[in-house]
Amino acid sequence: MPMKVLFVSSEVFPLIKTGGLADVSGSLPTALQGLGVDIRILMPGYTAVINQLKDLQLIATVHQLPHIGTAELLLGTIEHTQVKVMVIKAKSLYEREGGPYADTNGQEWQDNPIRFGVLSKVAAILASDHSPISDWQPGIVHCNDWQTGLAPAYMKLVDQSKAKSIISLHNMAFQGSYPPHWVTTLGLPSAGFSIEGYEYHGQLSFLKAGIFYADAISTVSPRYAKEIQTAAFGFGLEGLLTKRGDEIKGILNGIETEEWNPETDQHLIKNYSSTKLAGKKQVKKALQEKLGLNIDANAPLLGVVSRLTYQKGLDMLLPHLQKLIDSGCQFALLGGGESALETAFQSLAAANPGRISVTIGYNEPLSHQIMAGCDMFIMPSRFEPCGLNQLYGLAYGTPPIVNATGGLADSVVDSNIAHIENKTANGFVMVEASAEGLMACIMRALDMFHHAKKTWRQIQKNGMSQNLSWDNSAKEYLALYQKLVS
Ligand code: ADP
Repeated sequence: MPMKVLFVSSEVFPLIKTGGLADVSGSLPTALQGLGVDIRILMPGYTAVINQLKDLQLIATVHQLPHIGTAELLLGTIEHTQVKVMVIKAKSLYEREGGPYADTNGQEWQDNPIRFGVLSKVAAILASDHSPISDWQPGIVHCNDWQTGLAPAYMKLVDQSKAKSIISLHNMAFQGSYPPHWVTTLGLPSAGFSIEGYEYHGQLSFLKAGIFYADAISTVSPRYAKEIQTAAFGFGLEGLLTKRGDEIKGILNGIETEEWNPETDQHLIKNYSSTKLAGKKQVKKALQEKLGLNIDANAPLLGVVSRLTYQKGLDMLLPHLQKLIDSGCQFALLGGGESALETAFQSLAAANPGRISVTIGYNEPLSHQIMAGCDMFIMPSRFEPCGLNQLYGLAYGTPPIVNATGGLADSVVDSNIAHIENKTANGFVMVEASAEGLMACIMRALDMFHHAKKTWRQIQKNGMSQNLSWDNSAKEYLALYQKLVS
């Protein structure tokens, strides 16, 4: 009998995406399915999701849900992967204009505790004796981030589920903390509202609930598994994480190689590979044209695709960007977030027509074109649980320039002499997380780009020939599941 896994997530590519969590939730279940796991995704029935799933059919009604009482459960498949998705259809919670967490103005939905409390509760019910589905009972409930953090608590304290739970931590910065009255509204026992439970500084913490009650914990890179046990990265939960330290497994994310592959990428005017890099030049030219940059094959083109927040460290680029442009570089940014950062980059773009392009917003095709058309990818994150963009940069022959943290440190090998010699060098790692540290690292990369073309090609090839797929990481998740149920 194949192992049955319920994979619970609040966003799943290509159905709905705000960041890396969606990429992982779209690709890891596919890889696990390939390893013989009988996996189903459980997610909220946002309008966009209901509209995109194939063969959607009603399979059950779930009762005893907090606040809303009942919801319908639909089952459909993601078109090209054939992964099964169970969707919670609750019109009052999920079918509205805006994003999964916030309205069109970026204001967090006031009823998020209910929206994600219900997601967690449905997961717990489906893993219990009173599940409304009789022909499919998961042995493992795999939760992801705070939005699913209450599931392990419901499973242990309320629904007495026999299934094992695991929570994957994709970003400790987001914890889902809400005023204590939600404990009652969400049907959680008041006994659990303590230090030994889901209470965190007087608030109900979804993420703490997950970390406290899950049978296993994983993070999206080995380095991040260690980092979160320290005050600098644990966002206040380092004490609890240290207590459970031996049970935290770091597994580096893979990438969806169907979606992110320069040899087949549908968003590029020309495909290319590590042995046929010429096409990359055409992609660069097309990108320069599209973004209104001067057509110049020799100008080093630096790229960024990112949320614009403190985490991503792009403020460290601002003090020196003009100098880089004056020295002949071009810069292309796609992203959105804090308005001060958006404005600062937009002002620099206005002052440097033909040399800086800033696109504020979310644009999937452009993100692929920047990844492929640029010469280097800049990612100076202050913390980065895994990071996917540096992996895409490696796959696309666009060496990443990164800070030495989390998954960046686990995936980018600095191009120092030793690593160039042993052919492991694939990017550039900052020595210090500061504007000066970033500038020094970019200067080092530029020097190699201009004056050591052969070495540059080798660095590109080293990255492009790595196996960045889910092959190995999915096996590690499977081993973790097997350990839990054995
Ligand atoms: P995070 O999840 O912290 O935002 P990751 O590097 O793990 O960072 O993943 C970000 C994902 O979101 C990548 O797939 C990236 O290409 C995508 N992304 C981020 N911003 C944009 C944007 N403005 N337009 C298109 N894709 C974006």
